Amino acid sequence: MDWIVETMERIGRERNAPVYKKILDDPFMVLVSALLSTRTRDEQTHKAVERLFSVVKKPEDILKLSEKDIEKLIEPVGFKRVKARNLRKIAEILVRDYGGRVPRNLEDLLKLPGVGRKVANIVISHMGIPAIAVDTHVHRIANRIGLVKTEKPEETEKELKRIFPKELWSRLNRAFVGFGQTLCKPIKPLCNECPFKMFCEYFKNLEKI
Ligand code: SF4
Repeated sequence: MDWIVETMERIGRERNAPVYKKILDDPFMVLVSALLSTRTRDEQTHKAVERLFSVVKKPEDILKLSEKDIEKLIEPVGFKRVKARNLRKIAEILVRDYGGRVPRNLEDLLKLPGVGRKVANIVISHMGIPAIAVDTHVHRIANRIGLVKTEKPEETEKELKRIFPKELWSRLNRAFVGFGQTLCKPIKPLCNECPFKMFCEYFKNLEKI
């Protein structure tokens, strides 16, 4: 299965996928940026992350801001009010219970307000712990190619864990996202340029139309 991941990584990098533009390594920044990305387009998330991180570097910095201030900074994202409230609550919990650090396990991350499996998996995989974060790109592409036949992202995560060896898990999200941002786009994917088209279920169905 390595070749699937390697091919997607190569395509994403060659086509300058936004996911490779700025790679965050600080767990708090990864958590915040993953949280902002939920139900928001990549470009909007990117703008909000830049604006917020020009002021905020650690949870303590968030606590110096009001919810309204945070809302203004994350302006471009969807659900900004809820996200601003959650960010402040998360900062409080991290400072109070974890010494300002981000917990290194899925269970504790999932207890933070607004943090679901996708966000928690993104964070722990950035920490080097094997995990597959299934976002809209991963779910869509895995189903299009025919790697899985699933309705929900949680099912996709389970199936992909069965299919791919553990050592590849943490590379999957970025590989799929980069591929989805540049070639296997949600609307009008560039199938004629795709090396997977020979066995892609979506492409086979297109040919039948
Ligand atoms: S053939 Fe089209 S739908 Fe299938 S993986 Fe490639 S770009 Fe996506």
